[in-house]
Amino acid sequence: MVYDPAKKVIANIHSGWRGSINNIIEKTILTMNTRFDCNPKDMIAGIGPSLGPCCGEFLNYRTEIPEKYHKYMTGSCMFDFWAMSTDQLVEAGLKLENIESSGLCTRCQDELFYSYRRAMAGSPTENKSTGRMATVITIL
Ligand SMILES: [Zn+2]
Repeated sequence: MVYDPAKKVIANIHSGWRGSINNIIEKTILTMNTRFDCNPKDMIAGIGPSLGPCCGEFLNYRTEIPEKYHKYMTGSCMFDFWAMSTDQLVEAGLKLENIESSGLCTRCQDELFYSYRRAMAGSPTENKSTGRMATVITIL
């Protein structure tokens, strides 16, 4: 989630791993700048509950994740998308001190969250129940 208090503009970015490797964050910040004259230096960002570095396993990372993002590998096939998002926000012009991460992993904190990854783990033929999760941002 991104908020520009100077221009009173908000954005809610759903950045799954595909969005992350296509840098949807940069595209959003550029859109806020060109459409609403927002300055990234004024923006505040929060990284909500999502797949954490504890559970970000990508067994096929060589074909799925571009090499420029392999620096976010924290272990064997494990990736830190929170760090990637933080870096993408900084590279888009936000101040590091204006970025906060919830640090909440939706996969392993199953008492708090639904996780598509967790629900789909195991046999693909098994009938799985699915959940939904929403992140909401508003200006009052
Ligand atoms: Zn986790």
